[in-house]
Amino acid sequence: MTFPSDLQIARSAALKPLTDIAAEMDIGPHLLEPYGEHVAKIKLKAIDELADRPAARYVVVSAITPTPLGEGKTTTTVGLGQAMRRIGRRATVAIRQPSMGPTFGIKGGAAGGGYSQVVPMETLNLHLTGDFHAVTAAHNLLSAILDNHLFQGNEAGLDQHAITWRRVLDVNDRVLRNVIVGLGTHTDGIPRQTGFDITAASEVMAILALARSLSEMRRRLGRIVIGYTDDRRPVTAEDIGGAGAMAALLRDALKPNLLQTCENTPVLVHAGPFGNIAHGNSSVVADLIAIHAGDYLVTEAGFGADMGAERFFNIKCRASGLTPDAAVVVATVRALKAHSGRHHIVAGKPLPEALFAENPDQVHAGGANLRKQIENIGLHGVTPVVAINAFPGDHPSEHAAIAEIAGSMGARAAVCTHFADGGAGATELAEAVAEAAQEPSAFRYLYPDDAPLRDKIETVARQVYGADGVDYDLAAARQLDAYERNGFGRLPVCIAKTHLSISSDPTLKGAPTGWRLPVREVRASVGAGFVYPICGDMRTMPGLGTRPAAHRIDIDAEGNIVNLS
Ligand code: ADP
Ligand code: MG
Repeated sequence: MTFPSDLQIARSAALKPLTDIAAEMDIGPHLLEPYGEHVAKIKLKAIDELADRPAARYVVVSAITPTPLGEGKTTTTVGLGQAMRRIGRRATVAIRQPSMGPTFGIKGGAAGGGYSQVVPMETLNLHLTGDFHAVTAAHNLLSAILDNHLFQGNEAGLDQHAITWRRVLDVNDRVLRNVIVGLGTHTDGIPRQTGFDITAASEVMAILALARSLSEMRRRLGRIVIGYTDDRRPVTAEDIGGAGAMAALLRDALKPNLLQTCENTPVLVHAGPFGNIAHGNSSVVADLIAIHAGDYLVTEAGFGADMGAERFFNIKCRASGLTPDAAVVVATVRALKAHSGRHHIVAGKPLPEALFAENPDQVHAGGANLRKQIENIGLHGVTPVVAINAFPGDHPSEHAAIAEIAGSMGARAAVCTHFADGGAGATELAEAVAEAAQEPSAFRYLYPDDAPLRDKIETVARQVYGADGVDYDLAAARQLDAYERNGFGRLPVCIAKTHLSISSDPTLKGAPTGWRLPVREVRASVGAGFVYPICGDMRTMPGLGTRPAAHRIDIDAEGNIVNLS
């Protein structure tokens, strides 16, 4: 029998009314704003209404350095939430809203997988409640206000060659990476070169994810730096009169979206900032609600622990004030074998046959990556738990190898089969997480707010990435000096580098040592509240491949969506 597709499983799930799902979180119907039958927004006053309830244990799901296929963080986040119920605990799951770029590009759906999914997965993957469109609209409104500002005489004195604010769209559209606007006649605006990023890369998306309240979101929007004057002073969205209207467009988008897993666990899906040039975590407001809505709050942080979890600890938790109690590190046999350096896994291509041969030694050979990622969790004083995400074709001896590596680091580990078996397949993981979360949290940020930006970058590079040091291009050094002068030096850093290696070179596997982090350029998301050094080539507008998922996705005669995964 072939295993059913994600969409088939999702469609066969017995969904409960959302009022029942909300009731699991002690959230009454008066706090819900229904969007159709199976999605509702939660009003922000839920944060205050639930504030007196006991705090849930806060669990972040991270991973070893993934292959381009992903190692199952979303699936494990959902499976762990489902498993908590099976061991008698109430859990809420919080994840990002998927970008439609990858949905129609290479990845297909991003709602988890198998019997650990968020449903309805079609709605989740396509538009949901329109939050991404609101981000696109707010971002591009500011772009239009900026170009109009130039056209109307440029009162702010913006240097046209120092404008940093671009445009966004939630489509992988490579031809928009570089565009010239303002062509035509005098009344068509001032011609200049600019470009589009994908909506997930918008600073507005990061603001939506990091704001604690509407008023804070409004203030952060005002602080967005859109460019610089001739004498290098920053010009903000507030300065050109854009922030208020942006906030108006985003008012409803700041409310998190309530859905459920295929086993009826509550799920908050909210915001979707990019994982490389932004912090790659779901929203603070969703967590501020869910932290008082059950026994556990399980949330996912994008990419490996060196990326998503580090930003979760140092950017998201700084913004929210919340303290994590445990961190799951998802590990797979295939990724650890790839970290041995013996296999090359390419997205969109079949996996190499040799990857499936029983070979626990090869798992051990890639073990340095898992050990470093466990250490990266420990650096923040949080207790790690390794989730061994079982794939078809794995061998028990290989799972045992992962458990041995975890054990050698003093970390709990559990094999889980939630993809095939739903929550029942992750009860051992749930028990291990519950134990780990019982331990008193010694959570700490990696660096203090008032450390200079260079020290912050150096600290992450050396301690988390294992680099010997940091090298700055001249442009990067000048930008850092300017940011310190402009007063952005207190912000945390979000180092934009490849997610395919702990180093900045995607071809280096395992836990590379003896290398230095090259910083080419440094940008500032002052509204979102982080400075991001760029190491290597970062694509902020992906393209479509030779056979994009968009070629397959369709509707049938009844209007059902087909081939979404
Ligand atoms: P991440 O969130 O880390 O990127 P996902 O949870 O989205 O990873 O999983 C990546 C892909 O792998 C998805 O297509 C998912 O359905 C699939 N997957 C995850 N875990 C398993 C598993 N145990 N068996 C088979 N497929 C899996
Ligand atoms: Mg994911």
